[in-house]
This record gives sequence, structure tokens and C-alpha cells, in this order.
Amino acid sequence: MRMPRASKERLRDDCVSMGRIVKTDAMQATSVPGIFACGDMARAAGSVTFAVADGAMAGLATHRTLMLGL
Ligand SMILES: Cc1cc2nc3c(=O)[nH]c(=O)nc-3n(C[C@H](O)[C@H](O)[C@H](O)COP(=O)(O)OP(=O)(O)OC[C@H]3O[C@@H](n4cnc5c(N)ncnc54)[C@H](O)[C@@H]3O)c2cc1C
Repeated sequence: MRMPRASKERLRDDCVSMGRIVKTDAMQATSVPGIFACGDMARAAGSVTFAVADGAMAGLATHRTLMLGL
């Protein structure tokens, strides 16, 4: 996906010090509107179970954004 440089820089700034983890809220939204992150890039503990759960939430949130503009 093509992303403006400013958005990439904002995501980079949001990475916390425990590796390169992008900060997200409970709906997996990053600080860049319309961009969601899940799995190992958004969570310190590597786990398939958490990655799948986060992915389901990110999918739901993406759908809400695209369909309802939320
Ligand atoms: C050796 C090892 C053992 C593990 N054992 C367990 C275990 O027993 N149980 C457990 O729950 N978890 C285990 N984990 C952790 C688990 O594998 C991860 O937490 C999980 O796979 C994360 O899923 P993900 O989708 O976030 O990332 P990934 O599974 O890494 O998927 C990311 C995908 O994105 C692709 N990709 C990367 N960059 C790009 C790009 N620029 N463009 C397109 N595609 C790209 C990659 O090729 C990859 O296919 C283990 C991890 C490792 C390394």
C-alpha cells in the first residue's frame, strides 16, 4: 500500500522502544487515520493466537471505517 511520507514518519515515531512495535488503540487503529496494525508489528509478545485476534479486530475496524466512515 502506498502511504504518504508524513504518515510513515508518524507511525515510525509511534514505535515504542521494545523493538519496532506500532502503537494501536483497542480497535487496532494507529495514529494515522484509516491505518490499522496487528500481529507482531503491533504487539511485543509473538503469539499466533493474539495475531489472529488482533487481525480480526483490525478487519472489523477497517470495515467500519470504509463502510460507515467511523
Ligand atoms: C521460530 C518461531 C517460533 C514461534 N512459535 C510460536 C508458537 O509456538 N506459538 C505461537 O503462538 N507463536 C509462535 N511464534 C510467533 C508467531 O509465529 C507470530 O506471533 C505470528 O506468526 C505473527 O503473525 P503476523 O501475521 O503478525 O506476522 P507473520 O506471520 O510474520 O506474517 C507477516 C507476513 O508479512 C509478509 N511481509 C513482510 N513484509 C512484507 C512486505 N513489505 N510486503 C508484503 N508482505 C510482507 C511476511 O513475509 C509474512 O508472510 C513463533 C515465532 C517464531 C519466529
